[in-house]
Amino acid sequence: MPLSDKFGRAITDLRISVTDRCNYKCVYCRTGNEGALYGDLPFADYLRMARVLTGLGIQKVRVTGGEPLLRKGVVDFVRDLAKLRTAHGEELDIALTTNGHLLADMAQSLKDAGLRRVTVSMDAVDPERFARITRVPDGYDNVLAGIRASRRVGLWPVKVNCVLMRGFNEDQVVAFGKFAREEGVVVRFIEFMPLEEDRVWSPNTVVALDEILRRMAEYRPLVEIPHGRSETARRYRFDDGVGEIGIIAPVSHPFCGHCSRIRITSDGKIRTCLFSVWDHDLHGQMRRGASDEELSEFIRGVVQKKEERHHIGEPDFVPASRTMVHIGG
Ligand code: SAM
Repeated sequence: MPLSDKFGRAITDLRISVTDRCNYKCVYCRTGNEGALYGDLPFADYLRMARVLTGLGIQKVRVTGGEPLLRKGVVDFVRDLAKLRTAHGEELDIALTTNGHLLADMAQSLKDAGLRRVTVSMDAVDPERFARITRVPDGYDNVLAGIRASRRVGLWPVKVNCVLMRGFNEDQVVAFGKFAREEGVVVRFIEFMPLEEDRVWSPNTVVALDEILRRMAEYRPLVEIPHGRSETARRYRFDDGVGEIGIIAPVSHPFCGHCSRIRITSDGKIRTCLFSVWDHDLHGQMRRGASDEELSEFIRGVVQKKEERHHIGEPDFVPASRTMVHIGG
């Protein structure tokens, strides 16, 4: 029986955070003062978790963090993941989310190891603004080189994620539209969610889907194209067919009803929702000597507790027990 929760959602998508360290301190994510808060595990432990989970129906694995490329051995981890097969004997769809700072030199080895595609986070297409958001000087050129190297080695598609936050970068919408067309990447705007260390989120800090579309239309109209049910992004092409834009709108247009994801944190806890207020100690089970069958039973039980939906912006909203960088985005 494939993994599914009590609302009938099939769980096919796994995100594994391999560290909660990050070399960027993006203003919408981190305070700038906190470092890593949780430990990380030997790659062999994540690999065992991934193997058990693929046996239960996982088809996609995304390696994330913190910043996953900070972890020595991540390329070998991707190579080992690529040897796993889904319950139907197919190859896994392996992706990586990174800030791109170290990507240029690693793109070829990651591709050779079996990585299929990469998502690079980038919140401004202007070096100065980029430095102000990431609080790291001179990162922009590295990230751009990482994006270009990924395209060159055939990591496809290259997606560029941009979190828009009012007062910081909402005026970058058109610049990103041009960037998508010129660089041949899919740019995806993400609505800012209340998952930051600083707790600065309020509804008016969010630049919502409608506003993004309106701003982009001042440059060129977008035409919506079909997207998969469990895909997080609404997809658009420009009216001349060149350049793809996605908008991930968990705040203004929640998609929890189609959620197919679970996450494993760097310290081996399962999180069933970004907004969970607790986690489930999978690694604790391993430390106690659980067999693969016992881990599978534990995972099935945890998935039954997956939250129906998030409550962002509602009076009963309770902040998640971890912030994004410590969960794995
Ligand atoms: N370090 C990697 C990176 O920069 O992509 C992976 C981890 S990062 C936490 C994953 C993604 O989460 C990034 O695209 C980041 O922009 C996004 N993110 C972080 N905080 C967010 C928030 N409060 N709301 C929406 N997206 C957020």
